[in-house]
Amino acid sequence: MGLELTILGSGCFAPGRGRPVRNPAGHAVRAGESLVLFDLGFGNVRQLARARLPPEDVSDVFLTHVHPDHCGDLPALLFLFRCDRKPRSGRLRVWGPSGARELVAGLCRAWRPWLDPRGYALEVRELGDGGQAAGADWVVEAKKVPHTAPALAYRLTRGASSLVYTGDTEYDESIAAFASSCGLLLVECTSDEDDAVPGHLSPRQALELVRRSGCREALLTHLSDASAAAAARLLPGEPRAALARDRMRRKI
Ligand SMILES: [Zn+2]
Ligand SMILES: [Zn+2]
Repeated sequence: MGLELTILGSGCFAPGRGRPVRNPAGHAVRAGESLVLFDLGFGNVRQLARARLPPEDVSDVFLTHVHPDHCGDLPALLFLFRCDRKPRSGRLRVWGPSGARELVAGLCRAWRPWLDPRGYALEVRELGDGGQAAGADWVVEAKKVPHTAPALAYRLTRGASSLVYTGDTEYDESIAAFASSCGLLLVECTSDEDDAVPGHLSPRQALELVRRSGCREALLTHLSDASAAAAARLLPGEPRAALARDRMRRKI
C-alpha cells in the first residue's frame, strides 16, 4: 500500500517569462485503483496523457478552491468523459469548498449539453473544515486555510502513506499540525518575499511549515519565476525540501 504522486503543474496562474514554463496547479496521486487529482488547472488533462496516466482512471478531483488556475481544465475532463472515455469506476466525484457546486453547475449550464455527464455519474460534494472523503482504501481530510477565496488544504492517507497539499494559502501555523509527520508535504510558494503576493506563502514561510510539520519530504509548488529563484537560494538550508517540476514523480 502506498501512494505515487505525479506533478502535472508546478506553476501559478501566470506562465512566467523564464524557464521552465510550468503548468498551473495540478497534482495526480495513484492510490491503488484510484487516480486522485488535487486541483486541475488549465492544460492538465493533457499533462495526464504526457505522464502516461489514463484519464479514465481518475475517480476523484479535489479542488482546493475555485480560482481558475486550480480548476480551469475541469471542462476539458468533463467534455472528454462525455464524448470519448468514461471513468472506469463509473463515476467522477468532484470535491471542493463552498462554491464548488455552483462552479460545476455554472460550467455545465454555459456549455450545455457538452459537459453534462453521459454514461457515468457525476457527483459534486462540498467539504467544510474537518470534512472527510473516502475511497476504497484511502481517506482524505480537509482543512480550511486562509486565502482570498474559500480554500481547503487536504491530507490523503492510504495505509502508512500520507500526503498533504496546502493549496493556496497565507501563512497559518495550524497547517504544520495538519501536516504533522506526513510522508510528503506539497506546499505552495507563489510569493518571493513575505506578503509580496497576498494570500500566498514565501519560500521562508513555506520552509517554516516544512520544519514545523516534521514531514519526511517536501516539494514547493505553485511557483512563480520570482518565488522559484528566491526558494532556490534558501533550499540548501533544508535538505528535506525541493522545488516541484512538471511531470516529477515521487513514491510515498
Ligand atoms: Zn493559485
Ligand atoms: Zn488562489
